Amino acid sequence: MQAWVIGNWKQNPATSDDVQTLLSDLLATADKNDGANSAGCQLMVAPSCIHLAGVSDHLQDSPVLCAAQDISAHSGTTGAYTGDCSAQQVADAGATWTLLGHSERRQYHQETHACLLSKMTHAFDQGLGVVFCIGETQAQYDAGQTLAVIDEQLTVIKDILTQQPALADTLFDRLIIAYEPVWAIGTGKVPTVAEVSATHQHIKQTVAGYGEALDNITVLYGGSVNADNADSFAADAMIDGALVGGASLKAASFLAIAQAF
Ligand code: 13P
Repeated sequence: MQAWVIGNWKQNPATSDDVQTLLSDLLATADKNDGANSAGCQLMVAPSCIHLAGVSDHLQDSPVLCAAQDISAHSGTTGAYTGDCSAQQVADAGATWTLLGHSERRQYHQETHACLLSKMTHAFDQGLGVVFCIGETQAQYDAGQTLAVIDEQLTVIKDILTQQPALADTLFDRLIIAYEPVWAIGTGKVPTVAEVSATHQHIKQTVAGYGEALDNITVLYGGSVNADNADSFAADAMIDGALVGGASLKAASFLAIAQAF
């Protein structure tokens, strides 16, 4: 199974010059290692919307893909939605994927089930792949509610397939799940590999239950992944790659994580 290592740059870097430096470092190191593909996994970066077109231009003819971090819930194309960027617009800027449902979007922008269902519909309508982020908070983890929370979050996928059953046959390589426990993001705290593995197995089984073609969907782990702990996650058959925040802002650590997978 193809592994994926995805860098979520969040609201970084500060300037376009910093973006160009990060990309040049990334491609120079990747080339030195005989191409990013030599890592054996698919690399992708998700810059902020303002940098999307520049990044995708820079990455043209490279093995690194470009994703948006989010898209508008209101329209997949155009409309009177000040501040929003649509699926069509990010695709036009060169993104082939988008992240959806990141916990920071859920927390700071009150993203709900209905909002994410709408965003996912627009993404697939416009031909974007979706990296759908799910995960429990510290309180939910402490209360032993991880799987219940995940089951609830995954119903976005179930509902989109109820609305558009024909999608089931096309989603296998257009939908990735990223399991990111909220309490592990940016904290240096990580669940054990055994915990992540069991949760991923549950996610794969749940999504497979939505349609035969979704058997063994790609599930990435995210939350304080770095060059030192990537090997342990990569060694587990249920962990198909990583969604990396802080460690994706330095080419060396991002590529070290990629080499682990
Ligand atoms: P960190 O790797 O900084 O913990 O962030 C993870 C994340 O939120 C990726 O989407």
